[in-house]
Amino acid sequence: MSDKTITCKDCGNDFVFTVGEQEFYQEKGFENEPVRCPECRRARKANRNQYRNNRNSNSDFFSGNRAA
Ligand SMILES: [Zn+2]
Repeated sequence: MSDKTITCKDCGNDFVFTVGEQEFYQEKGFENEPVRCPECRRARKANRNQYRNNRNSNSDFFSGNRAA
């Protein structure tokens, strides 16, 4: 097994799907390789959470308030 370089579906950046991650995926029984880089995966997760909390405050959401 060796590291794979995958192009992120969302941002188009290349990211490395490391051997360790491949083993993790195999262990979990995931058949598909990741299609998004870790950043986009995190962003999607965060967006989902923020959507629940900020449905009525979109202006705050888009004002650059991205404290992690
Ligand atoms: Zn990405």
